[in-house]
Amino acid sequence: MTTPTPLRLHRANSGAPRTGRILQTTFSVAFLLATLFTGFSPKMFSGNFGTLISGLLTPQPVGGEAVPTTQSNNIRIGIVSGHWGNGGDPGAVCPDGTNELDVNLAIASLVSQQLEARGYVIDLLQEFDPRLDGYQAALMLSIHSDSCDATNPDATGFKVAASSYSRDNNLTDRLSACLEDRYGKITGLLFQSGNITVNMTDYHAFRAIDPSTPAAIIEVGFLYLDRTLLVDHPDVVANGLVAGILCFVRSESVQPVPTP
Ligand SMILES: [Zn+2]
Repeated sequence: MTTPTPLRLHRANSGAPRTGRILQTTFSVAFLLATLFTGFSPKMFSGNFGTLISGLLTPQPVGGEAVPTTQSNNIRIGIVSGHWGNGGDPGAVCPDGTNELDVNLAIASLVSQQLEARGYVIDLLQEFDPRLDGYQAALMLSIHSDSCDATNPDATGFKVAASSYSRDNNLTDRLSACLEDRYGKITGLLFQSGNITVNMTDYHAFRAIDPSTPAAIIEVGFLYLDRTLLVDHPDVVANGLVAGILCFVRSESVQPVPTP
């Protein structure tokens, strides 16, 4: 069972921590100087005292690219591995038996591991996981792959659809923009905005989760023409998804991806 936690998004550019840090540094320096001038012998000043003081006076970076693990703690993220645990339905299947369920689970597991290593709290969820009912998290992403149908000459590229049931459309727009931009850049796949189906926009889990949870579903590529990437390089696929998720939870800047 999962205990839902409140939505807590990291605000990268908040001014309060920097002010606090500088004040803290100032008081630390003042205290150190007072201690040194009253208690220690003049010999102290012949060593690396200047270096020590200049180091203390240099403001420490706050925010920026790397988010410390302590700030990632308690940020919960739900990853649905498409078709997993769905009573023998493997999703798309190729003639050689390669199937979507296995491909999705390999990718979803890598995504979960990478995010957990960064300190996020991850729920790796099945397609109809009971935990989806009223699910609360910083975001939920469902990972699927597209068909292995060799008769479709356009069977390449990825698709993203955000939940229309979410309470905050700005958040869901940001989530899709982050995924489209980062995933496209890292995998080199084209964003297929024209082929998004009702199965994606009206995805069942969108209706199940709490409306406060921003949610999206991604078709990471086609098992037909993108098979090499999806099957042989799931790490690249996972890197693209993790970059999209981090873009969202860290409030990184992102431009809306133009529709082809
Ligand atoms: Zn699927």
